[in-house]
Amino acid sequence: MALLQISEPGQTPNPHERRIAVGIDLGTTHSLVAAVRSGAAECLPDDQGRVILPSVVRYLPDNKRQIGFEALANVAIDPQNTIASVKRLMGRGLYDIGHREKLPYKFVEGEAASGMVSLDTVGGVKSPVEISAEILATLRYRAEDTFNDDLFGAVITVPAYFDDAQRQATKDAAQLAGIKVLRLINEPTAAAIAYGLDNASEGVYAIYDLGGGTFDISILRLTQGVFEVIATGGDSALGGDDFDRALADFISAETGYLPSTASEKAALLVEARRCKEVLSATNNIAFQAVNTQAMGEKSTKSGVFELFREQFVAATQHLTDKTITAVKKALRDAKLSKDEIKGVVMVGGSTRMPHIQQAVADLFGKPPLTNVNPDEVVALGAAIQANQLAGNNGAGDLLLLDVIPLSLGIETMGGLAERIVPRNQTIPTAMAQDFTTYKDGQTALALHVVQGERDLVADCRSLARFELRGIPPMAAGAAKIRVTFTVDADGLLSVAAKELGSGVESQITVKPSYGLSDDQIATMLKDSFSTAQQDMKSRALIEARVDADRMVLATQSALDIDGHLLNADESSVIAASIAALLIAKEAEDAAIVEAATTDLAKATEAFAAMRMNSGIAKALAGKNIETV
Ligand code: ADP
Ligand code: MG
Repeated sequence: MALLQISEPGQTPNPHERRIAVGIDLGTTHSLVAAVRSGAAECLPDDQGRVILPSVVRYLPDNKRQIGFEALANVAIDPQNTIASVKRLMGRGLYDIGHREKLPYKFVEGEAASGMVSLDTVGGVKSPVEISAEILATLRYRAEDTFNDDLFGAVITVPAYFDDAQRQATKDAAQLAGIKVLRLINEPTAAAIAYGLDNASEGVYAIYDLGGGTFDISILRLTQGVFEVIATGGDSALGGDDFDRALADFISAETGYLPSTASEKAALLVEARRCKEVLSATNNIAFQAVNTQAMGEKSTKSGVFELFREQFVAATQHLTDKTITAVKKALRDAKLSKDEIKGVVMVGGSTRMPHIQQAVADLFGKPPLTNVNPDEVVALGAAIQANQLAGNNGAGDLLLLDVIPLSLGIETMGGLAERIVPRNQTIPTAMAQDFTTYKDGQTALALHVVQGERDLVADCRSLARFELRGIPPMAAGAAKIRVTFTVDADGLLSVAAKELGSGVESQITVKPSYGLSDDQIATMLKDSFSTAQQDMKSRALIEARVDADRMVLATQSALDIDGHLLNADESSVIAASIAALLIAKEAEDAAIVEAATTDLAKATEAFAAMRMNSGIAKALAGKNIETV
């Protein structure tokens, strides 16, 4: 007894569950979380509608802490316990941090094992991994609240220049935050994915990322849907903050206002940043009042000061030029001319400044891509990738990492292997197919789980066998048995069989890759390619024989019940056809078997009509015509 396939319940079968997978941009200044919802990637807002989470953690006594905006508001008040830009410390030892004397933190040398620097706070000694984990956990809760479900996993972005220690530290932080890392991807790659460049024509792209405190230029080459970083460059101490400082200096020079205390300095910077951001949106003549209380009193000029975009552009020209010089250097490193660049992607809040966009356009001789929100573009690309890695959108995945090396399937009638999960399917995955019974009154069936690319079970690897019992007796083909293959992220396979009418079910779990080396997998694949044609022939023959058997069985069972409807001549014609088919079945040619099966079907056509009429007559017997 075995299975006969009747249908495939579609590309994304019923039992397939959607997994909550997000993309996280763990930024120096800001962090974001995004997910694909109804087909489009979007950033998830907090309960106040803000998508950005300042990457700032403040430690308080008694294990309390503030994260994000709340912590940011206290940077000036409690600098020693309020950690900003922790990303710069990730995976770094004490002596790797060149600017540490400029930072307000109490550094302690890391433990021998990791060597990573730690910070002493009122909440205890904290490593950069722990601090980053606070930010990641906040984003995880945001995602889980949004979807009201557990997070399946995340794609987290890191700068292209991050080394192994920095990448490992990021992974550790995710683990500490209870997040399963589906993959770390480079920030420029994520941005390119958000623009759909992985589907664009192959070629070289430049990603210009000017954030709050860092400038990164990356040159990527796209080949067959995979991005390769061919050069990186930039300046880890150049970003929007420098534009704020330059503008603050300009305002001081113009107004004669020189802040003296730390909080006055901070207030002027905040005001300069506000002006800078407004100047990105308002055209030529932006009018902004610089109006802090302190300035009004101390300024030699009046408290109201008019600022023009040209003044800001001029005051920051040296910073703009610095980024362009770094881009040229990266191009030289990659041995590329600027004409060889197919497209330029703008990333980071600071690329909203029109004069930055203009400088980039002038360099490359074409306008850069700016239509995706530059704060969000990295998180959005990571979300798209996360959605693919979680197996939420079926085929066409790029950059496959965890895939099923050999197809998984089940034995069907005649010793054929029916593939249910194809090779190269990303895991985790769940796929199902429907089967039916072969014989009338069949109440049990044996399931044989196999692995391999060959059509014949005999040529595949046997993984497991189990039985489904308690199927209510039905005519052959009436039962509907759904067989579901589920492979979890660790490659563990569960096969479940369920008769959908009665609900009886049975299942088994196996580890398909167990005991198979890469070489063995390679051999199995090679065998399948070299024997594909031969396999196809034997599959056709076996299928024809299964059809023949089914036809003979069905005819015999009909004869048992309704044979009395036939006269002797009619009976012998059918008997001869059965005999002919049983002989033809032994032929090694599918066409011969199929022809004989068709002959038997023709020979029994009249008999089938008689059975139908007699059935109707029986059903109608004793009934008034009106009640029918
Ligand atoms: P990071 O990647 O370093 O975390 P972001 O990409 O979030 O940083 O960029 C933050 C920077 O972008 C800040 O310096 C901020 O002032 C700047 N920024 C945001 N919006 C604008 C704007 N409209 N015009 C100019 N600069 C902006
Ligand atoms: Mg960034």
